[in-house]
Amino acid sequence: MLDNLKIVFHQGKQTIPNVRTAVVPGIFRGRPVISFEKVNEDELMAICPTEAISRNPVAIDLGKCTFCGECSMRFPEKIMFTKDYKLASNVPDRLIVREGEDKAIEVDPDSVREEIHRILGRSLKLRQISAGGDNSCEMELNAANNVQFDMSRFGIDFVASPRHADGIVITGPITKNMAQAVQICYDATPEPKLIVLVGTDAISGGLFTGSPAIDRSFLSNNHVDLYIPGNPAHPLTIVNGLLDLTRKLK
Ligand code: SF4
Repeated sequence: MLDNLKIVFHQGKQTIPNVRTAVVPGIFRGRPVISFEKVNEDELMAICPTEAISRNPVAIDLGKCTFCGECSMRFPEKIMFTKDYKLASNVPDRLIVREGEDKAIEVDPDSVREEIHRILGRSLKLRQISAGGDNSCEMELNAANNVQFDMSRFGIDFVASPRHADGIVITGPITKNMAQAVQICYDATPEPKLIVLVGTDAISGGLFTGSPAIDRSFLSNNHVDLYIPGNPAHPLTIVNGLLDLTRKLK
């Protein structure tokens, strides 16, 4: 008994008390900041493996960025990655960070469907679909419910059956072989239902953009409620994104 108490005392508090203000220790690439420094823009854009960087003004689309860090290593005077993990939004344009901007990426509460706040604001059950994912975002979704991040304390859980879910969470670029499964799973989920995309591959196709092995027509035919960038997405990005979407922010 005494030994057990010693272990508990030694370990301290495991759960992050406040997921809104937690600070990520160690190396982490979150929201980038782009300075007005003049650099060779052709070289800067050529470095990016997913064409996430555009110009006039120089901008990074976090829906395409793999957070590889190559741009900031080559041009540290131009691009710096902060540790800000709040990267999710329901509006794709808000995922684009432009030159000279240093502001938080947020969900737009005015464009969130009313029934999401009214019906899903206190309890949210999600069915995860790995649609050609590499298991990295899937692991981070799993971590979002571990003892540290403890997403279930906010009433957000994963369930096995889409019939018990309020929405689907898609990871991976959606391969042709998974396209029908995504549609079937979505059809089996009762209304009102959410679509959440987690990770660069799910949001834009990432490194697989243009591959004949993917079929993203599901996303063209259905409304996406939340984009959670990352490669993989950090559990704090996931938890904060879901909270921002389902809780009234106004
Ligand atoms: S960190 Fe993002 S924007 Fe920079 S080179 Fe990598 S993928 Fe491109």
